[in-house]
Amino acid sequence: MENLQGTCLCGAVSIVITPKNHDIHACHCEMCRKWTAGPFLSIEASSHVTFSGEKYITEFPSSKWAKRGFCNKCGSTLFYHSVESNEYFMSSELFHLEDFRLVSEIYIDAKPAYYDFKNETKKWTEEEFLKKPITYLYALSCFVLIFLKKLLFYLYFWGKWTMIDLDLSKKGVAIVIDFYWYPKCSTCRKALAFIEENKVVVNKIDLIENPPSADELKALWEKSGLPIRRFFNTSGIKYRELGLKDKLEDMSQDEAFELLASDGKLIKRPLTTDGKKVTLGFKEEEFRAAWK
Ligand SMILES: [Zn+2]
Ligand SMILES: [Zn+2]
Repeated sequence: MENLQGTCLCGAVSIVITPKNHDIHACHCEMCRKWTAGPFLSIEASSHVTFSGEKYITEFPSSKWAKRGFCNKCGSTLFYHSVESNEYFMSSELFHLEDFRLVSEIYIDAKPAYYDFKNETKKWTEEEFLKKPITYLYALSCFVLIFLKKLLFYLYFWGKWTMIDLDLSKKGVAIVIDFYWYPKCSTCRKALAFIEENKVVVNKIDLIENPPSADELKALWEKSGLPIRRFFNTSGIKYRELGLKDKLEDMSQDEAFELLASDGKLIKRPLTTDGKKVTLGFKEEEFRAAWK
């Protein structure tokens, strides 16, 4: 299709469009008639519309889904813009048209009795127009598009967050780890000194005053992939006093976690976790691998 160039009455706004076809549509609805002082005669523009004199264009949002543009200097009706689909129905009277014909009239039931078009046209009542299968298809495709847009949006940000998460240490951004310790324990102090040299924010938790609960221990154990025995401070006095070496075998998982949670001195220290990994005790190589 060839381009069409048109202007408003005063010439402040000029418009270039590529019409989709040579059809003219009339709308007899009350809104259009109030807006244009008659039925709104329009041609459908394909997506690309060029305006100049944009500061003279005012758009009136006549509904949630459409805006009606007019020249704010001379009042000429310019276009009906369907926002979601970005479709422009341009006022046909802005252009000098040849070989165009009036093919359809919509909202024919809203037309007042005092005028009639002689043209042979396809006529739609409001109900028929709103039920047009194309409207359904269009609505459906809009929903699909909106859904896809949202999905892409979430995937995009989910991807970004995942990257941020993975890149934290590389970028020098602090990672927060929980460090359960006993301040008087020399191994714990060595581990703390080691870990504080790295770009890590250490959330120090006194293991004796605030031991993790049985449920927390169970969750940590599941993440660690270690046998439960490793969670016990096997060199501790309490461990020996209770004779746990022999009793652990017969204990259920839940009993073991309850016992550990009942006395922080029974737990292997330091217990270090970022919520994903867990280390127990302090071995330099292991720490370097896990927390550097
Ligand atoms: Zn104007
Ligand atoms: Zn209308």
